[in-house]
Amino acid sequence: MVGNTKKETAPKQVLNPVNERITKRFPSVDRGKIWQDVSEKDWSNWMWQQRNRVRTLEQLEKVINVTDDERKAYEGSVEMFNMSITPYYAALMDPDDPNCPIRMQSVPKMGELTIDVTDLEDPLGEEKDMPVPGVTHRYPDRVLFYTTHNCAMYCRHCTRKRKVSDPSSAAQKKQLEVGLDYIRNHPEIRDVVISGGDPLSNSDERLDYIMGELRSMDHIEVFRLGTRNMVTLPQRINDDFIQMIRKHQPVFVHTHFNHPKECTAEAFEACARLADAGCMINNQMVLLKGINDDPGIVKELNHKLLMMRVRPYYIFQCDLAQGISHFRTPVEKGLEIIENLRGWTSGMAVPHYVVDGPGGGGKIPLIPEYVKERKGNKVVLRNYKNDEFVYYDSSDLEED
Ligand SMILES: *Cc1c(COP(=O)(O)O)cnc(C)c1O
Ligand code: SF4
Repeated sequence: MVGNTKKETAPKQVLNPVNERITKRFPSVDRGKIWQDVSEKDWSNWMWQQRNRVRTLEQLEKVINVTDDERKAYEGSVEMFNMSITPYYAALMDPDDPNCPIRMQSVPKMGELTIDVTDLEDPLGEEKDMPVPGVTHRYPDRVLFYTTHNCAMYCRHCTRKRKVSDPSSAAQKKQLEVGLDYIRNHPEIRDVVISGGDPLSNSDERLDYIMGELRSMDHIEVFRLGTRNMVTLPQRINDDFIQMIRKHQPVFVHTHFNHPKECTAEAFEACARLADAGCMINNQMVLLKGINDDPGIVKELNHKLLMMRVRPYYIFQCDLAQGISHFRTPVEKGLEIIENLRGWTSGMAVPHYVVDGPGGGGKIPLIPEYVKERKGNKVVLRNYKNDEFVYYDSSDLEED
């Protein structure tokens, strides 16, 4: 039926359409052979995507040419940390290149089975600053609030491996209440990072409930949803979700794009819908060896993000979580990336490069050194091109 097909493939309505010259830079995912016959209705349904995730070696073999390293790594890691890849994200993988950035983030590699002497079980000391289960209160005015341990896709570089994908540690309704009570009773909290796992693994009803409760607290000014769904399951950002989120503004959405390959038409649309609904979107990239440890790649990613109305916010140094040492780069690499962005491109495309202080120090920003010398009130600076400039502090600030 022509009529029916047309209805099924009609693009979802975006309130404020973006110029076509921009959108055409974002290619739609090529579904490949396995999923080419799936109806548009199923493919664009997040529940279908979720149900049909690639979880076994047999399924994976149908999508890519699995290498021996990946096969062994799968067998060695599946007990500890599930493999789970949405068809959408899996379709972005290069079937023949084991170093494909999408593949490296979603398919186990032998490096995961190595535990480095410097690895930590709780690298960010999140348990230490946990006044009640499910809330990390480290900074004066904001908290991290865990609402689930499920994610659409399990990132191989996940820092919360010890918790994520483990059904026994799922946040129960009771724990949610305890967390909400804690936030309610602490008027100094004005910003809540709703996290997980991925909070969008919760139903709309549950998210509506959580955000509604937070909005009912006088001291809560803003909250953020920390989600990777725009990257791994953009279908999740559907009409119902958008209608629900509109009720709770101001809502910030913090997401996690790591590579320009993830900037597809589908991801673009998911971000457009959130932006149209009034959300501010920020990106928190993780610096990963072999994936994005290259100034050119980060610049391309950040330019694409800006077109998607996503502001690059953080570049995270890979932390000391167990079994991710193969992803770590030296700190100099992060500094080199910032050095290659600042001045060379829009300031909007320059995020903060941070190291999360191991054991609970919080985020520590690192920037290249731009002060070359200080003598009295004379400050010798260098710019992005390494040209020197002298600035004079006003004399009443001069030290004697
Ligand atoms: C990252 C983080 C936050 C939010 O930090 P911002 O710098 O405000 O983005 C809050 N609490 C904890 C424990 C965090 O790790
Ligand atoms: S979405 Fe976030 S919490 Fe979930 S596996 Fe990826 S990095 Fe970990």
